[in-house]
Amino acid sequence: RPVVGVFALQGDVREHVRALTACGADAVPVRRPAELDDVDGLVIPGGESTTMSKLSVEFGLYDPIAKRLADGMPVYGSCAGMIMLASTVLDGRPDQRSFGAISMTVRRNAFGRQVDSFEAPVPVAGLAGDDPFHAVFIRAPWVESVGDGVTVLGAIDRAGADGVIAPHVVAVRQGAALATSFHPELTGDLRLHGLFVEMVRAAA
Ligand code: GLN
Repeated sequence: RPVVGVFALQGDVREHVRALTACGADAVPVRRPAELDDVDGLVIPGGESTTMSKLSVEFGLYDPIAKRLADGMPVYGSCAGMIMLASTVLDGRPDQRSFGAISMTVRRNAFGRQVDSFEAPVPVAGLAGDDPFHAVFIRAPWVESVGDGVTVLGAIDRAGADGVIAPHVVAVRQGAALATSFHPELTGDLRLHGLFVEMVRAAA
């Protein structure tokens, strides 16, 4: 069984552990640098990216994670986790750090205040079956632009904070790094966690 760590200093860790376990992985919370040594892949959950950034530096996890990512460790980030994987963060805190595992610019809280949270079907490329993913968005970011080598897996037509309805990218992959604006760990649809566990197996 592949061992998949879940960044556990902040965020909805338990839900990811449950989904990964259901997909056949050994899921382990990662709070200390040494705990990172034993994992074949890492999930960064939903939560609050500014807090994750701060705590990861304080607990000495930032540099070890950055190093493993530079070495090609598979990683999946949902919502705040997506922000943590971006190369550029818009509407972030000035001191907010992110790993840059995916060449993308993300905008925090991009869907605006009036509809902080919503659910919508999102077709996601490469998942089993033709059903769209039932996506849960909670103060979600969107991907504003992507660089070379990034595959867009999913987008949604939705108004942003400016009220303009336009397609916005909400799921991407670059090599062994996967990110979604939404929270599959909250829905019971295991296809994205299944895809990620397969990515971890393939890399091992
Ligand atoms: N708005 C949060 C942030 O910027 C992300 C919200 C979430 O993960 N549900 O980190």
